[in-house]
Amino acid sequence: MVVTSLDFDKPGKQQGYLQVPYSHNLGGWANVYIPMTVVAQGPGPTVLVLAGNHGDEYQGQIAIMKLARELSPARVKGRILLIPSLNFPAAIAATRLSPLDGMNLNRAFPGNPEGSVTSQIAHFLTTVLFPLADVVIDIHSGGRSMEFVPCSTMHLVADRDQRSRMLAAMLAWNADFAFLYADIAGTGLLPVEAENQGKIVVTTEMGGGEAVPAGVHRITQNGLRNVLIHVGALKGLERTRASLGQSPTILTQALHREDYLLAPESGIFEIGLELGVKVKRGQTVGFIHHLERPDRPPEPIVAQTAGYLITMRAPCLTRQGDCVAVIAQEVNPKKLCLP
Ligand SMILES: [Zn+2]
Repeated sequence: MVVTSLDFDKPGKQQGYLQVPYSHNLGGWANVYIPMTVVAQGPGPTVLVLAGNHGDEYQGQIAIMKLARELSPARVKGRILLIPSLNFPAAIAATRLSPLDGMNLNRAFPGNPEGSVTSQIAHFLTTVLFPLADVVIDIHSGGRSMEFVPCSTMHLVADRDQRSRMLAAMLAWNADFAFLYADIAGTGLLPVEAENQGKIVVTTEMGGGEAVPAGVHRITQNGLRNVLIHVGALKGLERTRASLGQSPTILTQALHREDYLLAPESGIFEIGLELGVKVKRGQTVGFIHHLERPDRPPEPIVAQTAGYLITMRAPCLTRQGDCVAVIAQEVNPKKLCLP
């Protein structure tokens, strides 16, 4: 159902669109246009670079637009496929979910060719773009719901060779933190579909959504370039944390439900600690205040595990069951890839 004028096998640089059929009240034969750039030259890996999976996460969208304008075929070994705003309708509406069908693209995989716009985008990735790719990079941030310590992220896939190559690519982002995460909120994720197809998958959580500091844009843009060099698709010298005069990336994981602190009741959330600090088990991380009962003491949010405060809820207004903080334990990267 999705069509494109782009020829993925053609060398050189092409700028075009993926077009997804969509009918609305003022357009019976309309298409949603999703911008895409292809830069290819000679033998080498194919890397699919994505952002805007959630529309209100702009760090990656900016990084990919800049890279797409800059890249010439002479700088590429293999093929780089760039889609800055994957969930384009959500990106122009500054929403996490698609305003066209209410769907979360990151829960829509493997997708459906006869489904809504979001289902069709997922299906095109699953059946056309992922099979072309050796490496899939999906750049997220916390959007308007969470504020993260800028970090590269991955799943702990079962295949040890795939896992060790994903770990190396994730660490090539050169962020202060890397984060192994669990899926506590449903299935149908983009990275899981790409992992199941055997791809090297690197994802990120580059800060939050509303006020993005220049430093977070720099980490996003420099990290993306370095990962592309690391996987061999972009010419240039790979930088390491050591070569930049920085201490090694702190590798953390939150693989258990108790690492994810959910609001026990609705109210106004106050974070009590700085992002990225070490937290002890039993330590109070924040409070839920009650606007209607200011006389009532706030409900403390208590860490169930020890580790680093890797992310916090961004809006103060909180509903029962919202994730308000995640505590991630430090892990030894060498132990993760033992057979
Ligand atoms: Zn996201």
